[in-house]
Amino acid sequence: MSGSHEHDPAVPGHPAAPRTLSASHRPATLAPDRPLTAESTERASRSSMFFASIRFKLIVGGILAALIPMAICGYVAITDATKAVSQLSRTNEQFIAEGTAMQVEATLEGEMKLTAAFAARTQVRNAAEAVNSEGNGGTAETLELIRQDIRKRFELLTTNYAGIFITDAAGTPFAEAMEAGENLPAWNIPEHPCFIEARATRKPISGEMVFSQSTHEPVMMICAPIFTENGLFLGVVGSLLKAPVLTDMIVKRKIGETGYCFMVNQNGIIIAHPDEKNILKLDLLHIPAMASMAQAMIDGRAGAESYVFKGIRKVAGFAPVKGKGWSVAATQNAEEFLAGVLSLRNSIGLIILFSIMVTCAIIFVAATSLTRPLNTVIRGLEDIAQGKGRTALSKRIEVTSNDEIGILSEKFNRLMESLHNIANFKKAIEEEGTLEDVYLCMGEVFTRKLGLAHCFIFQVANGKKGMSLTYPEQEEGSAALFCNPEILERCELCKANRIGHVVSSVHFPAVCRQFTGPDGTGHHCHPIVAGGTTVAVVMFVFETTPAAADRVSKAEEYIHESLAVIETKRLMRSLRDTALIDDQTGMHNRRYLQEYTEKIVAGVLRRGKSIGLIMCDLDFFKQVNDTYGHQAGDVVLRATAQVIKQSVREADIVIRFGGEEFLIVLLDVGTNETLRIAEKIRVHIEQLTVKLPEAVIQTTISLGVSEFPLDTDTLWSCIKYADIALYRAKTEGRNRCVRFSREMWTAPGGLAGSRPSSAAAAANPS
Ligand code: GH3
Ligand code: MG
Ligand code: MG
Repeated sequence: MSGSHEHDPAVPGHPAAPRTLSASHRPATLAPDRPLTAESTERASRSSMFFASIRFKLIVGGILAALIPMAICGYVAITDATKAVSQLSRTNEQFIAEGTAMQVEATLEGEMKLTAAFAARTQVRNAAEAVNSEGNGGTAETLELIRQDIRKRFELLTTNYAGIFITDAAGTPFAEAMEAGENLPAWNIPEHPCFIEARATRKPISGEMVFSQSTHEPVMMICAPIFTENGLFLGVVGSLLKAPVLTDMIVKRKIGETGYCFMVNQNGIIIAHPDEKNILKLDLLHIPAMASMAQAMIDGRAGAESYVFKGIRKVAGFAPVKGKGWSVAATQNAEEFLAGVLSLRNSIGLIILFSIMVTCAIIFVAATSLTRPLNTVIRGLEDIAQGKGRTALSKRIEVTSNDEIGILSEKFNRLMESLHNIANFKKAIEEEGTLEDVYLCMGEVFTRKLGLAHCFIFQVANGKKGMSLTYPEQEEGSAALFCNPEILERCELCKANRIGHVVSSVHFPAVCRQFTGPDGTGHHCHPIVAGGTTVAVVMFVFETTPAAADRVSKAEEYIHESLAVIETKRLMRSLRDTALIDDQTGMHNRRYLQEYTEKIVAGVLRRGKSIGLIMCDLDFFKQVNDTYGHQAGDVVLRATAQVIKQSVREADIVIRFGGEEFLIVLLDVGTNETLRIAEKIRVHIEQLTVKLPEAVIQTTISLGVSEFPLDTDTLWSCIKYADIALYRAKTEGRNRCVRFSREMWTAPGGLAGSRPSSAAAAANPS
């Protein structure tokens, strides 16, 4: 037989490594190896676990998944809309500016034409000719007529004009109609650029805006030249046009809530603005944010610009008033025309916020329903890891779905069920009395609980010669073993016993030649290895189906769990055995007999057989001690014990009853057989020669024989009878066998003269 119990991967059919017994062996989950951690550390790890949890990841992942595309879409939509609206607004502002500039231009042109038409009148020309040729004293009548005419006309024009006048060629006015407070000489016509330019260009000219003396509102002079029919310059017809005629259309122009128009002159000075304070006072070139736009306006360009004025972003379009060097601008706060974009931005923001909330809610519910069973599994495993025992093992998870989580829950429940069963099984076998009871319990679990109907448990005999069938509990030979019955006599034939590893046809058919099961059946032989040797073999015979293989692997778990218990029981047995064995001779002692009396008697009575009892005592042994010494006596004693042992069967029990007194218990003997065996022993002892360095010793033995239940119905009385018979043998001359008979008991001298020193007398526990 191989002495190696290491795992041999070359041997087929080893699903599991051989299990050497170890009392400390426990499944990893049951071992609370983890050092106890402080509560704070536990809390910290719990909070860090939250951030590592599936729920947290799902929520964050879901939010990001909803947020990122939405944020990108929102950003693109808002940026594009802002760009488009801004562009539209610039175009719109410029368009308004251009339209307004054209209106101003047309109005001014109209007013200039009006003045020119007046200058072209014959009556005016005649009056001018008269004044130029005759001086201011000219034809008084002509002058009076023109002065009346001018006053009459002015009455009609007074809403738009602060005054009208006619000058001679030198620029001296000779007819005028002025608003109250307007002082014409203060205008200094001969020096006025408007007069000078009209004279030089011979065209109607409009001047710059200045404050009127009468209304203190801006006015501008228009001068239209007067010619003779020959084209000689005679003077001008001038008018003082009130600025609102031109600027009202600018000032009153509204663009949305915040938009308005204004106009600057060729120097960048405001000449039309809704806020009167700015007129002729504000210089755009001096406003840094507007300087570049002011320059473009001064340069007579058209376009649009954005700028920030007093912290407000604005967009302005501008266009020149042709022929005048003025420029009209239309401006609006960006906030106003971007209001639509702002509301779009707010809507997108709200949609994103709402989506995040909905996503969060959905993911929270989903994550919770996903992680709840997982957490239960984790808590269950934690309880097991912390050794919370039976209560933890009875934990089950409610299976609410048939998805992966449902499968996990079900598997967990099955695991708990199996652990629970194994824990119960372990407890049950721990409570069993003897090793045999443990094997019986295992066999019952395998057959009844796991459904492995053909289960056999063989115990390897102490001397490793044979094996005995412990489960099922029946007469040897009567069970169909599915195995060569020779293994019972020669246990080395059993491969599982020999190699100490699992021998299974599941993995390798025809792995064992001793298997005699019918076709279509397989076997799985699992050795139980304790203290480095195989102490038993569990054999399963089954129809080769996957379900059976599953059951076998489950059974292996139970076997694995029972190893520690088997080891403990074996240890206890061997401890007790040493207490029941005599050191010197290796025979059982009297305590053994006391312990097993009941069992021995019950077995013999059940089988309807008899027990033969032989009490024997060496003759004159004291002399051996006295002559050769106590050590020599010991050698003789051992040799005698050896001879007695060899003279009886293996199943018979030889007990060292006292100093050099032995009791031989022959099981299942026939009539008179005991006396024959006693005689055989006597002869063997007589023939025994013990060779010592100093001498060769020979001795004889006396034997008393009785039979149970033939002589009496209690074993201890029967032992006493054998002792009485021994006494008789001694008294009759020693070196002989005497069969007990009734008269020895009733013989005079009390109890047929039983030996007062007899160990038997003292041994009877009753
Ligand atoms: P008898 O024929 O009447 O039995 O004579 P005996 O000398 O054998 O007398 P008895 O049985 O009374 O004496 C037993 C002696 O055996 C006494 C004791 O010294 C000796 N003895 C008992 N146990 C041992 C032992 O273990 N070793 C040795 N060497 N001697 C023993
Ligand atoms: Mg003796
Ligand atoms: Mg004696």
